[in-house]
Amino acid sequence: MNKATRKAIIAGNWKMNMTPSEATAAVKKTAELVAGKDGCEIVLCVPFVDIAAAVEAAKGTNVKIGAQNVHFEAKGAFTGEISASMLTECGVEYVIIGHSERRQYFGETDETVNKRTKAALAAGLKVLLCLGEVKEERLAGITDEIVAMQTKLDLAGISAEDMKNVIIAYEPVWAIGTGLTATPEQADETCGVIRATIAKLYGAEVAEATTIQYGGSMNDANAAELLSKYNVDGGLIGGASLVPEKFDAIVTAAN
Ligand code: PEP
Repeated sequence: MNKATRKAIIAGNWKMNMTPSEATAAVKKTAELVAGKDGCEIVLCVPFVDIAAAVEAAKGTNVKIGAQNVHFEAKGAFTGEISASMLTECGVEYVIIGHSERRQYFGETDETVNKRTKAALAAGLKVLLCLGEVKEERLAGITDEIVAMQTKLDLAGISAEDMKNVIIAYEPVWAIGTGLTATPEQADETCGVIRATIAKLYGAEVAEATTIQYGGSMNDANAAELLSKYNVDGGLIGGASLVPEKFDAIVTAAN
């Protein structure tokens, strides 16, 4: 496996945007634009309440639907939470876990990220596992140590077989929703550190087969250069995924 044979994935993270009716229109429009662009996997991660509408609108298209979080317990007294089997039964194939906004605003830790990842994998979901350094860590020159540590903690106890369903999204926190993008060289280098850490944990074959996305203000203008880098196998896209034409331009760059 190498960049040419690894599965590229372009995933949108709608965050807390779009009502169900807006989701239907946006999924349909996106699917119309990306039809036939099969050089990468295309995923839209929508709010929980939009899942039914999004799955229906995506039927028969090359757009897959994802969720933005999942709880680690199968059922029980966890008010406001959603289990992995609830997602799969609704037709969800992917789930974002460990997004920096979950870590920053909702107390997610590497431990809960790891538990959620295990529950999602056990239910047959594909996991878009987010990690990345904050600005102070980049300025202090400890980005490599931070992403290596997060990779090890978030993947603790996950088997090499299960790694077939894990996608890492390297998202420098300082670049998310800020308009600041990592340079293609920074993205390539840090995705490379994550790949090297996976190689230490699972061996070179698993590391070379793992899809590692970049996320952080990726848009139609900068996608092609970021995606051309050896260690960047796709993108997790927030703001630009809300505009079907911009998202389509990123999919076209990945193709
Ligand atoms: C994200 O939410 O994962 C993200 C990368 O957002 P944006 O593209 O808006 O920076």
